[in-house]
Amino acid sequence: MTKYDAVVIGSGLGGLVSGFILSKEGMNVCVLEQHSKIGGNLQTFTRDGCIFDTGMHYIGSMNEGQYLYKYFKYFELTDKLRLKKLDIEGYDIITFDHDNTEYRMAQGYENFIAALLTYFPEEKSGLERYTSTIKSVVKGFPLYDLAEVDAFTIDVALLEQCAMSLLNDVTDNKRMKNVLAGAFSLYAGNPESTPLYIHACTRDSLINSSWRPIDGSQQIADLLAEGIRKYGGTVLTSSRVKEFDISSEKADAVILENGEKIFADNFISNAHPVSTLNMIGEGKIKKIYRKRIIGLENTWGVFSLYVILKKDSFPYLNKNYFHYNANGILGAINNVEHWPENYYFYTPATSNTDKYAESIVVLADMKFEEVSQWLGTKVNKRGESYESFKKRKAEKLLDTLEKRLPGIREKVVKYYTSTPLTFSDYTGTVEGSAYGIMKNCNDPLRSIILPRTKVSNLFFTGQNINLHGILGVTASAVITCSEIIGLKYLTKKISNG
Ligand SMILES: Cc1cc2nc3c(=O)[nH]c(=O)nc-3n(C[C@H](O)[C@H](O)[C@H](O)COP(=O)(O)OP(=O)(O)OC[C@H]3O[C@@H](n4cnc5c(N)ncnc54)[C@H](O)[C@@H]3O)c2cc1C
Repeated sequence: MTKYDAVVIGSGLGGLVSGFILSKEGMNVCVLEQHSKIGGNLQTFTRDGCIFDTGMHYIGSMNEGQYLYKYFKYFELTDKLRLKKLDIEGYDIITFDHDNTEYRMAQGYENFIAALLTYFPEEKSGLERYTSTIKSVVKGFPLYDLAEVDAFTIDVALLEQCAMSLLNDVTDNKRMKNVLAGAFSLYAGNPESTPLYIHACTRDSLINSSWRPIDGSQQIADLLAEGIRKYGGTVLTSSRVKEFDISSEKADAVILENGEKIFADNFISNAHPVSTLNMIGEGKIKKIYRKRIIGLENTWGVFSLYVILKKDSFPYLNKNYFHYNANGILGAINNVEHWPENYYFYTPATSNTDKYAESIVVLADMKFEEVSQWLGTKVNKRGESYESFKKRKAEKLLDTLEKRLPGIREKVVKYYTSTPLTFSDYTGTVEGSAYGIMKNCNDPLRSIILPRTKVSNLFFTGQNINLHGILGVTASAVITCSEIIGLKYLTKKISNG
């Protein structure tokens, strides 16, 4: 009987980074993925020769020496990843109905301020206060900036700061607030409750430098898995974990859907915490702990429209566009009738051409309630009513896009769509939530998920711990692994590359 040092459930970024770290540090690791393909939200799929990202499509701070670069160096990815730097003068563009201005988010802090001053010349001091606050907030966030640390601590005062308080503090100009909040869609931002640290980490990471994976983000997953295997680890697909075998307070093994038992000393779950708790039998953990985690609110899902374009008909855009109705994100009503009040789009980078776009991806927030009637059905077998529902959504989104990009409809060859139900099937996330458990600056302690669980050798990792996105999930995996191999040791190793 093989007994691993660690079994990792799920091969999303969090699972693969955890698997890589423990393998590189000498442990015998097995990563178990329920699907036939690894990656979770890093997965890509190909249709009609075009490669599409399902989730992650741009990343920040990959200039040599920057935050993510330091982590990725230790993961042995920096020489292998194929990335394209987004437009320095505007990696994200914010636009509104009835306003022809394209508000640019530029890379580099000085550039960022200078770009916004062209639209808001009176706001210099506000913009300086905004950027200096962002810089100081990220310094206090656990492991965002990799440094040798002795202990993992969470500054509750930091979690209690709300993003809107900063925006209200730096300006009274409504349009500028909406521009600064303009990438709220990247984290399901809510003016009422989004913590400042989420806004600050996302913004800072991308201002430092912004990059788009060429031919998609699957390469990150594949390279991490290659690394795990190189260090003697195992990555198994089509291996869905059904339950834990738990004796007293410790897990002994996981049991796969096919009945196979896999034994280990430690277990890390990259699955959503609620899915993980569902793998633990009643009576094995305290009811109150289970109830607290099951009761947490999740962020919304997304409706994704993957459009194949006629050859050489539309330029490749080296930036992302976030579009809002005239009221901006801060005036959003958020009901189905008004959908889509906001959406964002990008043209994937391909190794074939950087002059023309082969495809365009349009993403809009979507609540799970809209698809809950098809819960329990399987991908491609959800029936005619679901297909018609998706078509109506897609056509509405395309109509809205046509107003922003006149003539785009004529360039469409065909399109594919996905809904939160698709995410729920492909990543196991609760209600197809895009970014996992919702963090709330008004009640931060409630939504904190620590890596340690009530089962002594079972740990959580992934976007629900700490923060979502490339940097958040990477830092979460380091925090999780540090529970097994020590934080000071690990941060020193990673800092030294
Ligand atoms: C539309 C969209 C766009 C995004 N764009 C960006 C972006 O541009 N930049 C960025 O930084 N972030 C982006 N994000 C966020 C980012 O993709 C996620 O935060 C991150 O990829 C989550 O990684 P994870 O490891 O926590 O979980 P996941 O990617 O959800 O992985 C979990 C894995 O666990 C597996 N699993 C679950 N249950 C089981 C089981 N029982 N047995 C075995 N395996 C199981 C799943 O199949 C999955 O592979 C985006 C997200 C979405 C939805």
